Amino acid sequence: MRYEGPIYRPPSEAGSLLIQATAGCPHNRCTFCMVYKKGPKYRVRPAAEVIEDLEAARAQYGSRIQTIFFPAGNTIAAPTDTLEVIFRAASRIFPEVRRMTVYGSSRYILEKGEKNLRRLAAAGLSRIHVGLESGSDAVLADIRKGATREEQIRAGRLLKKAGIENSSYVMLGIGARALSRQHALETASALNEIAPQYVRLRTFVPKEGTPLLRKVEKGDFVMAGPHEVLSETRLLLENLEAATSLRSDHYTNYVNLSGELPRDKTRLLGMIDDALKRPEGSFRPFFVGTE
Ligand code: SF4
Repeated sequence: MRYEGPIYRPPSEAGSLLIQATAGCPHNRCTFCMVYKKGPKYRVRPAAEVIEDLEAARAQYGSRIQTIFFPAGNTIAAPTDTLEVIFRAASRIFPEVRRMTVYGSSRYILEKGEKNLRRLAAAGLSRIHVGLESGSDAVLADIRKGATREEQIRAGRLLKKAGIENSSYVMLGIGARALSRQHALETASALNEIAPQYVRLRTFVPKEGTPLLRKVEKGDFVMAGPHEVLSETRLLLENLEAATSLRSDHYTNYVNLSGELPRDKTRLLGMIDDALKRPEGSFRPFFVGTE
């Protein structure tokens, strides 16, 4: 298997075989993201090369592989024909596989359209990890996410129509203090309209080499502290009505919430209330992320 550039994968893909179909990110403009700021430039690998890697993995791991994640920033942006060949080959080489997933932003999901997404689902693509970040247009514009709230909702609904699971990532604290309330309320209402299978929470940590770290240093982005982030999380959860699996499987979070909604809402709100009773100094300190 050959890898190019930094390889990131969601924690839920920790046990997955990682095979690159693309390198870099075609958007590469989100102000909080350092992943590909130093390259590599976005490119799609030839399908034949990717299939060689799949075959090498089969020779090495045999039938132990149950899930495959194709890393890099927005693999869904690759041409449908190429992805279809790769997913079909992966299904043939690993007939035991029960999940194949990629990262994909709403903008590229919309560009694919329902017909192409259905083709990819038929070829084996089962889930897309979508960086929603926020349901607020003000926040999305500030962080240059490349999609509006309406586009995020439309992309989420499109995945549902195409039969592809949606794992949506929300970034707590990304609206700074100023937009915290708006971020919580509008993200909850966007998620209510999308009703993704998974909502995964991460807390904003400024990363080195990013435009957003420069804003933090200049005082133009005032970060929410632990109690403010927890209150934001509470407001989001209070207003989240969609039936979904909530996870906060990330080291950046101040409280680890995991449950099925709406069933576990009261329990999860209680966990946040308990965390809010802890002194601020007992949470992880502020730090600048390096990876
Ligand atoms: S789309 Fe994802 S990988 Fe690309 S710049 Fe934004 S956060 Fe980073």
